[in-house]
Amino acid sequence: MSTFAWMRDELDELARNGLLRRLRGSDSQAALLGSPWLEMGGRRVLLLCSNNYLGLAADPRVMHAFQQGATKYGVGAGAARLVSGDSPVHRHLEEELARFKGTESALLFSTGYMANLGLLSALPSRGDKIFCDRLVHASLIDGCLLSPAEMVRYKHNDTAHLRSLLEKVRRKARRWIVTEGVFSMDGDIAPLPEICALADEFDAVVILDEAHATGVLGDEGRGTVAYYGCDSRRIIQMGTLGKALGVFGAFVAGEQVVVDYLVNRARSFIYTTALPAATAAASLEALRIVQSEPERIKRMRDNAAAMRRGLAQIGLNVPPGETPVIPVITGDPSSAVEFSQLLLDEGVYAQAIRPPTVPKGQSRIRATVMATHSDDDIAFAVEAFHRAGKKAGLL
Ligand SMILES: *Cc1c(COP(=O)(O)O)cnc(C)c1O
Repeated sequence: MSTFAWMRDELDELARNGLLRRLRGSDSQAALLGSPWLEMGGRRVLLLCSNNYLGLAADPRVMHAFQQGATKYGVGAGAARLVSGDSPVHRHLEEELARFKGTESALLFSTGYMANLGLLSALPSRGDKIFCDRLVHASLIDGCLLSPAEMVRYKHNDTAHLRSLLEKVRRKARRWIVTEGVFSMDGDIAPLPEICALADEFDAVVILDEAHATGVLGDEGRGTVAYYGCDSRRIIQMGTLGKALGVFGAFVAGEQVVVDYLVNRARSFIYTTALPAATAAASLEALRIVQSEPERIKRMRDNAAAMRRGLAQIGLNVPPGETPVIPVITGDPSSAVEFSQLLLDEGVYAQAIRPPTVPKGQSRIRATVMATHSDDDIAFAVEAFHRAGKKAGLL
């Protein structure tokens, strides 16, 4: 018996339940040239599962900024920010992110996953209570698991349920509400004004994950706070640079004291190598483009609307919405995997999303549109969903 035989057994069990995850080798050179088409298995397929919503990952200006940054600062930071990994580019990007978000300050993290771990392990303390939307991202859950505070989940976007849970907490405990602005797997938007009103009433802090709202929602893509025009005093925002901004990394935006506190307490900030200055330089350029070329956001939104309309017209059950994240729920994992394969046969690459990423019975295709999709691309995708949906018996 091999030492690791138990791992094989577990993986076999996952496979039997349609839950095995595998890396799919794709030769995606075409996508890197800014096209939503890529090579897979010797065929051209339409990419419909990237978070590069604005097409900035392969924008020549962003790529150039990255190259210039590497020429000037090298490819690696060489140490944590607090040691010798800091640079003027990091500071500049933080200032621009704070301005973009309308906050006093911002702090870079190496990834969104690490930002969420850092935030939630550092801020809530023993005796506090964290209220998490039931559908929040794994990184937020993992952050809560690292926290000494107690976590409770409230029903997705259900502020009545949230209120009933808040009412049960004893007066002395500090309260934290954790939600996403745009939910990563459903593409719906949190009722932030109601959540903030509850935060006011119960003296809570809102931790708002803007991974899929940054560059997507609100004027110039400033996110959920801008979308609603909410007061952000009780909010600590986290956002990522690797999705709509097309680069890599993440940030927390809020009051200066929050940033100062995180620099001293967030272990995923302190004990890790800084982002390369070159990626910060690329993010600065991406952030500039997001704000100066609003037509990109408009194009992405128009594509999202056309895609939702098209999928609804062929009879798929697509929730109404305005974000580029469009869930097509099939139910069990095998049906989602089969649908994904049928779509691939039709020339569309859209991944199946299964538990534990989404709740049981909620397996789905998560289709995401980008600003770089043309009208013809969207029409092609809808047609592929039509044919694959029929073959899968979903239509
Ligand atoms: C992608 C994502 C993250 C993690 O961000 P990375 O920079 O990719 O680590 C965190 N939260 C949500 C909601 C996400 O979708």
